[in-house]
Amino acid sequence: MRYDMKLDYDSFNEIAEGRKSLEFRLNDEKRQKIRVDDLIFFHRADNEYDVLKCKVKALYHADSFKKLFEELCVDKNHEDMRKYYSTDREKEYGVLGIEIEKYDDLYLADGHMHLEYGPLNKEYALRFIEEGINKGLDEIDILDHTHRFKEFEPCYEHLRKYSEQDEWLKQPTKFCNTLDDYYKLIEELRKMEFPIKVKFGLEVCYTSNTEELLRDIVKDIKLDFLTGAIHSVNSILYDMSFSKKLLWDVYPADDIYKWYYDEVLSLIKSGLFNRLAHPDQIKLLNIYPSYSLKETFREIADGLNEKKMYGENNTGIHYRYGHNDIGISDELLKIFKDKQVRMVCASDAHKPEHVGSLIPEAAKRNKGVL
Ligand SMILES: [Zn+2]
Ligand SMILES: [Zn+2]
Repeated sequence: MRYDMKLDYDSFNEIAEGRKSLEFRLNDEKRQKIRVDDLIFFHRADNEYDVLKCKVKALYHADSFKKLFEELCVDKNHEDMRKYYSTDREKEYGVLGIEIEKYDDLYLADGHMHLEYGPLNKEYALRFIEEGINKGLDEIDILDHTHRFKEFEPCYEHLRKYSEQDEWLKQPTKFCNTLDDYYKLIEELRKMEFPIKVKFGLEVCYTSNTEELLRDIVKDIKLDFLTGAIHSVNSILYDMSFSKKLLWDVYPADDIYKWYYDEVLSLIKSGLFNRLAHPDQIKLLNIYPSYSLKETFREIADGLNEKKMYGENNTGIHYRYGHNDIGISDELLKIFKDKQVRMVCASDAHKPEHVGSLIPEAAKRNKGVL
């Protein structure tokens, strides 16, 4: 069995650096199920994608932390455990010492995949989950574009002024479900058990001119996460077959980049989202501005940190758009790493077979081992 637990920054680093091999918890219902040889994935409390994968080597039980620390000769004040567990709960459940061994530090999570081209039902969603299991992932995060859901239709009106975009919005895959349909699917899937973690969110098309509309819709949404994405500048989509004609052939690259990154910064400042989708996706056609983006990237990194948001390293840029980069650029990655931005890997899979695409590579890049 696999268990996921949170660890504060100091304890996390002690295990990561091999200075700690015993973890202490209340022996509550969840912990009573733990057996020797089970897996425990410790997520750093302030960064859920920084994970230590450990194996249980031995279990020690006692009535209290005081006794347990004495028995195991642990040089630790049992009163320190009071900040986590009350005396009453300690008496009720007893306590547990878990001897662990770290076996791997690469947690493979694919934080971005769409059910968009299939029905919003269990059978279709299970194909993505099975693919994640087969590819050896530890976690998959399912999300769909907000243009699938009727509730978000008003946020797309500004795009309809171009006939190409109006046609695109009239496709049968747009506004074909309600959020309730999604919640029902999630409820069904949450009743099932999977050997990997499965989370559910939305990829929200953000524009500064629809921010208040979005704020009103997302305030009641109860999902694991919301990923904000910039897919248009000046009400023109930048990544479609018609985008060259409407955008790239009409406006200078410098303007397009400025508009795009202004929108990225507004998205972050809005405080509506947990994650920023594909931060430098605007490079998809290999058209670049004449000025350096370093300062902009630093502002993005600072903004993400301030809002405690995750920045995606999205591999879709490589296998979906044929760009040389296998995710965010080396330049942006270096700035994210220097500023310790929380990062999540993402395939942007739109088909089950694309789940996990280049995720091990992205995870290694994030860790600085590739
Ligand atoms: Zn996107
Ligand atoms: Zn996407």
